[in-house]
Amino acid sequence: MVYPKTFQGFAITDLSKWTETELIEYEPKVFDDYDVDIKIDACGICGSDVHTASSGWNTPALPLVVGHEVVGKVVAVGPKVTEFKVGDRVGCGAQVWACLKKTCPACSTDNEVYCPHWVDTYNCTYPPESGKSAGGKAMGGYASHIRVHEYFTFHIPESLKNEDVAPMLCAGITTYSPLVRNGAGPGVKVGCVSIGGLGHFAIMWAKALGAEVYVFSRGEKKREDAFKLGADHYIATGEKGWNEPIKMKLDFIVSSANSSEGFDLGSYLSCLKVGGKFISVGLPEKPFNVGPGSFIANASSLSSSHLGSRPEMKEMLKLAAEKGIKAWNEPIAISAAGVKEGLEKCHHNNVKYRVVLNEFDKAFD
Ligand SMILES: [Zn+2]
Ligand SMILES: [Zn+2]
Repeated sequence: MVYPKTFQGFAITDLSKWTETELIEYEPKVFDDYDVDIKIDACGICGSDVHTASSGWNTPALPLVVGHEVVGKVVAVGPKVTEFKVGDRVGCGAQVWACLKKTCPACSTDNEVYCPHWVDTYNCTYPPESGKSAGGKAMGGYASHIRVHEYFTFHIPESLKNEDVAPMLCAGITTYSPLVRNGAGPGVKVGCVSIGGLGHFAIMWAKALGAEVYVFSRGEKKREDAFKLGADHYIATGEKGWNEPIKMKLDFIVSSANSSEGFDLGSYLSCLKVGGKFISVGLPEKPFNVGPGSFIANASSLSSSHLGSRPEMKEMLKLAAEKGIKAWNEPIAISAAGVKEGLEKCHHNNVKYRVVLNEFDKAFD
């Protein structure tokens, strides 16, 4: 038994072979007063895991344990933790720490995800502001355990199975937050671009919130899935002039597209009502190609959004439990081979619509 001194995880140790992980043991950052230790039961594979592991965004520090859609059981709580006790079933997403100070313009307004001192769940070092945790390395969820500040830990509703809920902790909240912040609800026309790990949630949430949902995908392949997920309209953007019938109709668009290649942003902007926003939650590795002229016809704007707040995460999990919403997922037992298969599936967009690693008990001591 290595815990609590060390955790075990499947780590990328060679960037030239980024899908080939190695089971390593590592020391977690110090156990602080507000920390919760989670013994992991399931972890989704997010597009961010692939972008990070493959050095698509920048060169990560090694060894690297990715994974930030974690569900498991609490095995230890710090002396100041109030909301959790040992044995609770909990989850954590893509953030494990922020300053949470009343003087912080982000943290004091339920925008802890924009805290200048925030700590990502992996490939991140705790900043000096984190006191005795400073210098500690954050490691992700393809692991036996994870250590998280209680503010970034969430109770999981009993009715949601591990595999069905894990992807909500990043993909789910990433799409839920911009939908609610921009008023998705009855009478509101929302565009959802791209159907994948993020996008399939955008459609389910928009529908559950009562909006009229327009789904955009390049071809016809995903038409049936789009309607199953809750689309009211489906637009195949492979056809020239696809935007003509819906020009100036949509209140806002949430885009999960994660590639900017051949992406016709100008045509999407033309679908927005005056002042409408195109919100990109996908993070393409290359910039969008758009000129200022594309915004002038309807005063549209290009925006983004990152994860969501603690209150939004709680609302989202409640909504999922009430409406029986589940991630469309393909479970794979965690192991070096399983991680490789999952990362490759995700990299090639060959999954409907999220791989979730499970059977952690068999992989770790
Ligand atoms: Zn993610
Ligand atoms: Zn802050």
